[in-house]
Amino acid sequence: MQLNLPQNTKNRLQGLPVMHLGALAVVTAITLTALLWPESSHDEQSAWTASELLDHSALIRDEDLQHDFFNHNLFLDESEFLASLNARQAEPGVFHYSIQQGDTLSTIFDKAAVGQTIMHQILAADEQLLALDILRPGNHLTFRKDVETGHLEEMELYIHAGNRVIYRRVDENNFEFEEKLIPGSWEQQIVSGEIYGSFYVSAIRAGLSKSEILEVNKLMGEQIDFNRHIRAGDRFQVIRKAQFVETEATGQSQIQAIRLQQNNRAYTAFLFEDGNYYDAKGESLTRAFRRLPHDQNYRISSPFNPRRLHPVTRRVSPHNGTDFAMPIGTPVVSIGDGVVTRVENHPFAGRYIEIQHGSTYKTRYLHLHRQLVKRGDTVKRGERIALSGNTGRSTGPHLHFELHVNGRPVNAMTASLPLAKSVPREQLAKFNEQVNQLVSIMDTASQEQIAQRQDANQPGS
Ligand SMILES: [Zn+2]
Repeated sequence: MQLNLPQNTKNRLQGLPVMHLGALAVVTAITLTALLWPESSHDEQSAWTASELLDHSALIRDEDLQHDFFNHNLFLDESEFLASLNARQAEPGVFHYSIQQGDTLSTIFDKAAVGQTIMHQILAADEQLLALDILRPGNHLTFRKDVETGHLEEMELYIHAGNRVIYRRVDENNFEFEEKLIPGSWEQQIVSGEIYGSFYVSAIRAGLSKSEILEVNKLMGEQIDFNRHIRAGDRFQVIRKAQFVETEATGQSQIQAIRLQQNNRAYTAFLFEDGNYYDAKGESLTRAFRRLPHDQNYRISSPFNPRRLHPVTRRVSPHNGTDFAMPIGTPVVSIGDGVVTRVENHPFAGRYIEIQHGSTYKTRYLHLHRQLVKRGDTVKRGERIALSGNTGRSTGPHLHFELHVNGRPVNAMTASLPLAKSVPREQLAKFNEQVNQLVSIMDTASQEQIAQRQDANQPGS
């Protein structure tokens, strides 16, 4: 199969394993089957909302799609991985389980013959990470018991090749977590397509994940009325970086550039090194954030602290958020525009909400009394999302607020947040240089597509 990649990328790919090429071939597939999506259906199909997008797949989380998309092309890795797990399974005291649709943590612990008390001890250790709240098909759990006593010593959660978490027993009543993140390598890929039917349908066929489509929609939506003003035949290109650990795709990606070509007009978005997106002139496309998740000056009762002494367990464990003491029922607001990715109830974190703000930023709001949004909702900066509470393991009414940047918790009170309106003057030269590079990658890819189409139209070919 012919790859629509710039020549230098092609050369670089030759040394790579077959799985990579398989993944890229899908990524670069162009959708030209206009007959399936006649233009008359354009209007209703393009009027999707973020919440519909997520609700249409009630059982599948949006991250699943990315995961599936990559792994379909990577079965060789998957079977190798399973073979290594089967080998481990043979070890005494080890129980391995691959997550299936419909599983709950309780049913899995039952299968592993590990009691609910132990499960709660592990959930307590997971409070600052909340990794066990979003188990999905493709994840794996490995339980290791002491062969003589039968006590659970360790449980490992395999999320993807770049991310696993180990919950390790520290004493009779407590576990602690260790997160193993492997940076791996990031491959640049270009996804191209033409719009027939809705942008959503066209983008899925071109190989973008749901979360990537949301990001494109948001960034382009800052420039044009994206749902009304796109037309059949408009072309789009997305340059993304996708993470690989050895030969396995982790499903993690970051959009670097977007171009929507409409007749003679192009709309673009570029990621700069400060983590924000700008148009080609360097004007910000990322709406400003606010610092506080509430409207009054509530006292910080416990600051962000990677080495905190836990107030309940009296053990050193990270405090990945900022606690604000506030009466139950205080309105809690989102600090930025985003999409609600979780509304969950956790025995220790309590009722909580997670919001994704583009691919770089994520916030969490814990111990809530009541949520005012549901998963899949889009929210605006300053919008009320919940009433604060005292649910879960909590020493008094408060809001625990977390900010994650590129998947890592940071101090929300001091972290640099997108507040700038444009690229600072002294960084403009660097920004322009990066823009030129990305534009030339997209130009090369378009020229190759045009050449290919002409080839296909030659008589006798
Ligand atoms: Zn807290």
